[in-house]
Amino acid sequence: MNPLYEVYAIKYAHHERRAAENFIGGDPHDGPMPLDYFVWLIRGEGREVVVDTGFSAAMARKRGRQHLRCPTEGLQMLGVSASAVQDVVVTHLHYDHVGNFDLFPAARLHLQELEMRYATGRYMAHDCFRGAFEVEDVVGVVRRVYGGRVEFHDGDAALASGISLHLIGGHTMGLQVVRVATRRGWVVLASDASHFYANLEQSRPFPIVWSVADMVEGYRRIRELAASPAHIIPGHDPLVLERYPAPERKLEGIVVRLD
Ligand SMILES: [Zn+2]
Repeated sequence: MNPLYEVYAIKYAHHERRAAENFIGGDPHDGPMPLDYFVWLIRGEGREVVVDTGFSAAMARKRGRQHLRCPTEGLQMLGVSASAVQDVVVTHLHYDHVGNFDLFPAARLHLQELEMRYATGRYMAHDCFRGAFEVEDVVGVVRRVYGGRVEFHDGDAALASGISLHLIGGHTMGLQVVRVATRRGWVVLASDASHFYANLEQSRPFPIVWSVADMVEGYRRIRELAASPAHIIPGHDPLVLERYPAPERKLEGIVVRLD
C-alpha cells in the first residue's frame, strides 16, 4: 500500500484575458476567461516536494501579469521553507513554471530530458515556440545541471513511493505531469497538459503548443492516470480555488487542499 500525501495548490499570480486566447481557433462565446498561476506542494512521509516555482515580481512587470506574492511566501504559509526543500519537480521550462528556481538552493530539480532538448535546441529558433521561455531561466537551469543538481527523467518515473512523473509533451516537448497517492485516490497535477478544465473536458487545445497531437492525446493519458476526472488539477484554472477548500480560514483565496 502506498503512503498517502497531502497536496496543495498555492496561487501566486493572476492575468485577465479573453476566452478566445485560450483555445486554438478562438471561442465563439468569447468573454473574460482569466488565468491564475499556481505552484503545488506535496507533503507526507517526512517529504516535501514542490511542483514548479512560479515567477518573480520583476518578471510579472515585464510580462504584464499581476503578481500577488512570491511563491515561496505561499509555501511559508504552509510552514515550508524554500531553502530547505530537497525536491522540486519542474513540469516544463516556461517562465511561469521555472522562474525563482534559485530560491530553492538545496533542491534537486526533476526535469524531463526532452524538455531540456526542446528549450536549448532548434525549435527555439522560432519565435512562436520560444515566446514563453526566458533565456536566463533556461541558462540558469543549465548551470544547475553543471552543479550536479538536476535529475533528468526519460518518460515515466517514480519520485517516491506514491509520487510519479509522466511525460505528456504537447504544450512543450518535455512537459510532465505528477501523479500523487492521496486519501481520495490518485490525484494528477496536470500543470499545462490542461490549462483549464475546459481544454481537457472539451478536447479543445490551448494555443501555445509544440504538438497538437500530443496535447490532445495527453488529455486521454491524464484521464487514465487519475482516479476520476475530478482528480485532475488543471494548471491555470481559477475554478480550482472554487472547487477545493482552504486548509484554514486565513489562507482562503490563496491556498487550497487538493487531497
Ligand atoms: Zn503555465
